[in-house]
Amino acid sequence: MGAGSTDPLRLGLIGDPVAHSISPAMQGAGLAALGITATYELWPTPTCQLPARIAGLRAPDVLGANVTVPHKGAVMDLLDEVSPLARRAGAVNTIVHRDGVLSGDNTDVHGFATGLGAVCRNPGSRAALILGAGGAARAVILALEAMGVARITIANRTPERAARLAEDLRPTSLRATGADAATLAREIRSASLLVNATSAGWHPGETPVAPELLRLLPRNAIVVDLTYRDTEFLRNARLLGLRTLDGLPMLVHQGARALALWTGRPAPLAAMLAAAERAREERR
Ligand code: NDP
Repeated sequence: MGAGSTDPLRLGLIGDPVAHSISPAMQGAGLAALGITATYELWPTPTCQLPARIAGLRAPDVLGANVTVPHKGAVMDLLDEVSPLARRAGAVNTIVHRDGVLSGDNTDVHGFATGLGAVCRNPGSRAALILGAGGAARAVILALEAMGVARITIANRTPERAARLAEDLRPTSLRATGADAATLAREIRSASLLVNATSAGWHPGETPVAPELLRLLPRNAIVVDLTYRDTEFLRNARLLGLRTLDGLPMLVHQGARALALWTGRPAPLAAMLAAAERAREERR
């Protein structure tokens, strides 16, 4: 690691938009705790500027970058190497720069598995229902697969997209359905792990599953929302006495794995978690 000079090293988040991100606060705290003089910047990048942005990562003072929506897939063609996991996930969220070589990896899968693993001791025995069929759902499926979850159903507003995802991730055995109320009412009864991996639910008054449907979940169900704030979906589940998990642990663990890849050192998890929680509070 290092640029071979005393100038600060640089990292950043590539996406469009990126202004809302709490990664600069979280990664800044991680770098400070490691005693590394580096900045983590926001690099807003419209699609037409993506090739130039990636070429800029080859500068000697750049350690790497995170990548977010909408570039996680398209960025793969611009890198020198992509890990098998990132290829299977169809998404690179972390780029490491070493001596002019750019390597793409996916730390979202690790982030979800680690966050869930901390609250769920027996994932393999659970039946998972995943809402959504985008990039985040894909990372969740690969994490669940690694954790030994054999029964996974994807329910998506656009059922054809769920079917395509199931086909794409073969040989993993996945069921794909729509996400209309009648279908959810049928599927939710056997779901001991319910994950919201849609972008619905961020705004107040919005929820991917109506409260009356949540009542149909088994009593031992764990309800997860990838949104890193306390959503109406999670509040409704808690009112029913169900265990819940928001998206902050996933965010922190994906960031910690990325920091370890950039620096070659174990990430200071506690400092990163505390900074992420503070940044989330400030954005309320
Ligand atoms: P994508 O755009 O790839 O996919 C969005 C998904 O949400 C699609 O399945 C889409 O369905 C569905 N959707 C969107 N709006 C609605 C709606 N109103 N009702 C029902 N379904 C809807 O997004 P990502 O997969 O990248 O991200 C999904 C969420 O996960 C985001 O909120 C993101 O912030 C979060 N996330 C959190 C992470 C973390 O570290 N905590 C990491 C990565 C993502 P359709 O196919 O029908 O359009």
